[in-house]
Amino acid sequence: MTRMWTRGRARVEGNEIVLDAKKAKPYRLFEDPAQHERLLIDLAELRKLGIVANRRILNKRVRNPSLAKDFARRHGLIWHQPEEGGDCRETWQSWLVAGYELSLTIALYAELREAITTGPVEPLRSFLRTTRDTGNAFGAIPEDNQELLEHVSILLAERITKGLIDCSPTILAACSLEREGGMKEGPAGDFRASINPSSLLAVAYNELAALIESKAWFKECAGCGKLFRLDPNIHHRDRAYCEDACYDRTRKREQRARRRTSTQAAGCSNGAATGVNDPNSREKQSPLE
Ligand SMILES: [Zn+2]
Repeated sequence: MTRMWTRGRARVEGNEIVLDAKKAKPYRLFEDPAQHERLLIDLAELRKLGIVANRRILNKRVRNPSLAKDFARRHGLIWHQPEEGGDCRETWQSWLVAGYELSLTIALYAELREAITTGPVEPLRSFLRTTRDTGNAFGAIPEDNQELLEHVSILLAERITKGLIDCSPTILAACSLEREGGMKEGPAGDFRASINPSSLLAVAYNELAALIESKAWFKECAGCGKLFRLDPNIHHRDRAYCEDACYDRTRKREQRARRRTSTQAAGCSNGAATGVNDPNSREKQSPLE
């Protein structure tokens, strides 16, 4: 089912991301594969607009404004579209929180999947503990392993259901829908079911719901910390990097670091990354910034 959305050039003005109505272009949701495939992860990456701890945003100014502009160019704003030619705006703080919550949900699912498939439950438990310790989510953590897996499954379902709030399941007669060029979508008697999303967040969570129902795999990139979809039809199960270019970048960076270390005087320790699997620590460790 088609629903139009609007994307284009955006600028950052104080707390707001402003979509330039004159340059913005409409597009059909679900019909541009390049756009649709990227939306979920691009939205999760908006967590890099800042740092969230104890349910508060710690940075006063937006970090990585180019990330917000790229998002608006590829997808548009999250909740609004320009009306009657006027510019359209949303705060970067609302984008950060949306990205943070979504990435936390995907990371939690990835940990659950890993625990169920490979056995040890400890990484999942420590992920929950770390997230709880930064004050951002999750209360009680069951001691029993089976209880823990069920607890996380229920938690995930609740988080995703909350994300689907901007969907309203609908059915439409295909003859009432127009394709590009004015053709009718289908003849009388044909129907199309739709989620009728009123935000990009709804589209992303709907995609996530379908992916976790089909037991899709997600992983956190060993190079840049970005979450990526591991497709067993294309990727090796042990794939650790989001893309080949990221592997190359990481290797070069490590080589440079090794060279630097070997030329420095010995005995100077440089606090290694803790490897804590928390979106905020990933943020600090991310080498792409
Ligand atoms: Zn990467």
